[in-house]
Amino acid sequence: MAEFPDYYLARKKMVETQLIPRGITDQRVLSVMGKIPRDRFVDEAIVGEAYNDHPLPIGHKQTISQPYIVALMTEALELAGVESTLEIGTGSGYQTAILAELSAKVYTIERIRALMVKARQTLHELGYNNILFKAFDGTLGWKEYSPYDAIIVTAGAPKIPQPLLEQLAEGGRLLIPVGNKYTQELIRVTNKKGNYIKENLGGCRFVDLIGVHGWKE
Ligand code: SAH
Repeated sequence: MAEFPDYYLARKKMVETQLIPRGITDQRVLSVMGKIPRDRFVDEAIVGEAYNDHPLPIGHKQTISQPYIVALMTEALELAGVESTLEIGTGSGYQTAILAELSAKVYTIERIRALMVKARQTLHELGYNNILFKAFDGTLGWKEYSPYDAIIVTAGAPKIPQPLLEQLAEGGRLLIPVGNKYTQELIRVTNKKGNYIKENLGGCRFVDLIGVHGWKE
C-alpha cells in the first residue's frame, strides 16, 4: 500500500478549534476524531481541505459532513462501545469509521452503490472489521439485524421514517435531520418503553434522504 502523509496536526487543530470551543465534551468522540484520517475519505484533489470547517463534495452530488456536525451527532448518540448501530447514508464512510470505533457493530446503508463500494474499500484499508454494508434504500431500515441501540441518518428527511422507529431498541437513540429540502432540525428520538421522546438539537443542512419514506427522486 502507498504511504499516506500523516495529518496529525491538522486533526489536532480541527478538534481544538472546531469541536471543543463549540461545546463537544465527550472525550471518546474527541479522541476518535483526533485519530481517524478524514483525508482518506475525500478525493485527492481536495485533500488539503479535508480538515476544514465545512462539508466537502464526494461525488454523485453528495457531501461528507462538516466535522462539527459529525461530532455533534455522534456525541448525541451516547455510545458506550457495546452498541449495535445502524447508519443510513454511508457516503464517504467517515462517519461510519467513527461509529465503528465507538460501537460494537455497525450496519451501514447507502443508496448509491458506487459510494458504498468506495467507502467499503477505504474502511477495509483502514482495518475495520465490524462493519456490514448494504446498497439499498435505508428509509426501510435493515430489519434482519434489528433492533438497534443507535440509529443515525446522515441525510435530511421530510419526516421520521416509521421503519426506523420500529427498529429502534428499547432505550435506543435515533438521530435524524428533519425538515424541508433547504433546512432541517436535528432531532434525537429516544425509545423509552415504546414512548418516543423527541428533542430538537438545533438547525442543520443535509443533502436529501431519498426513498420510500424520504423524498421522491
Ligand atoms: N455520513 C456521510 C454523509 C454522506 S451524505 C459522510 O460522512 O460522508 C448523505 C448520503 O446519504 C449520500 O451518500 C446519499 O446518497 C445517502 N442517501 C440518501 N438517501 C438515502 C437512502 N434512502 N438510503 C441510504 N442512503 C441514502
